[in-house]
Amino acid sequence: MTAPGLPSLEELMGSLREQDPRLAMVLDVLQAQNPPRNPPQHPPQDRRADRPSAQDGDPDEAIATVIAEAARVEASLREANDLLVSFRAELDDLRRRNDALAAAAGSCYLCWGEDPGCPVCAGRGRPGWHPPERWAYRRYLAPAHGRFVRAAAARARPAPDPDPAKEART
Ligand SMILES: [Zn+2]
Repeated sequence: MTAPGLPSLEELMGSLREQDPRLAMVLDVLQAQNPPRNPPQHPPQDRRADRPSAQDGDPDEAIATVIAEAARVEASLREANDLLVSFRAELDDLRRRNDALAAAAGSCYLCWGEDPGCPVCAGRGRPGWHPPERWAYRRYLAPAHGRFVRAAAARARPAPDPDPAKEART
């Protein structure tokens, strides 16, 4: 039974959940692993007289278990948060590169012209949709284009003359 004026355990948990969504996650995990037992069928005074059974367990032990579990959950949350931070950094990096490449290609930075429902280009934003931005073109596409042109020129050149010495032997 709860002393008058003090919140019940359920009220306390509810209030903690509202205050901190991370704590709510912890409580969810704890609750999933240890579903609440059936409420006692008799008043606490009677209960105090009962000898603690194996099922009831030692309250100190139960608290220690909950604390250990909370520490494990906290460690998992920290790990998940670290992962999220690194994903976020990678996403920012990829977005920056995507936007620069789209600017170099004169393409829609959202869909590259592949999404008819795109709010920016309505699917018309393929490369060349608008004039490339000079700085981005020079940085990303001009070197690749130059390399492409040189490789094509090399392929078009006639093959060098065969070795004259080898030719003489045949
Ligand atoms: Zn688009």
